[in-house]
This record gives sequence, structure tokens and C-alpha cells, in this order.
Amino acid sequence: MSDLTDLYQAVILDHNKRPRNRGKLPQATRVASGDNPTCGDNCTVYLKMEGEKIGEISFEGSGCAISQASASLMTTQLQGKTLAEAESEFDEFKNIVTTGEEPADFSEVAAFAGVHAFPARIKCATLSWHAAIDALNKPDQPVEN
Ligand code: ZN
Repeated sequence: MSDLTDLYQAVILDHNKRPRNRGKLPQATRVASGDNPTCGDNCTVYLKMEGEKIGEISFEGSGCAISQASASLMTTQLQGKTLAEAESEFDEFKNIVTTGEEPADFSEVAAFAGVHAFPARIKCATLSWHAAIDALNKPDQPVEN
């Protein structure tokens, strides 16, 4: 088990060190932001839609390691997804961080299962996901960069 814990720890450290899809997205058509004042985290998610699906996704933000690693991982999970698919991914992620239940198969999102022991950090982990769902629910319009 401790090998698996180490592996999950490594996932979070890796996303912190080398955040995926970080920075403003040129030609983004949807954007939404959120913040978590109790921890000082903030996150903006940019989307470029391809029909019903997320063609490209990026995030900008600052805050604790959990919030930043979660945002990076979220972008890799939601790329290519529709709103319905993204909502179901988010439901699964929320379940992991609130109950600590890990999916049967190895999944990078399961790295956040340990968050359930620290209820104050659940908002850190879900901040970027909320922003992504908010952005997905908006109509397409040019985003000023
Ligand atoms: Zn935080």
C-alpha cells in the first residue's frame, strides 16, 4: 500500500513541478474564475470549444500545492470532453476527495483521495473543477487576452 501512496504523492508533486496547460489560452472562447479565500487560492480556466467538446483547455492561478496540482490534472482529464462528460468526471473527483474512496483502477485523480482527511482542503482540490464547469456552461464569445 505504501508504494501506492508514494505513487499518488508523486503524481501531485509532478503536477506542481510541471503544471500541464498552464497560462492563458489564445483564442479562448469561454473563461471562468473562482477563488478560495480561506486558503488564498485562485484559478481561471480558459476553454476553446470544438463543437460540443473541449478542444483546448488551460488554467492560470496561484495558491497552495493541492489547488495547483488539481488544476493541472483537471485540464488533462477534461480535454476533449463534453459538458455532460465533464460533469460526470467532476462527480467522480468530488466523490474521491470527500470520501477517500479510490477507483478500482489506477487513475491519477485518485492521488487526491488523501484530501478527504482534511475537509478544509476539499475546496482547494475542487476550485479549478468548479471554474471549468462554470466556463462550460457559458455561451461561446471572444475572450479578451
Ligand atoms: Zn488551498
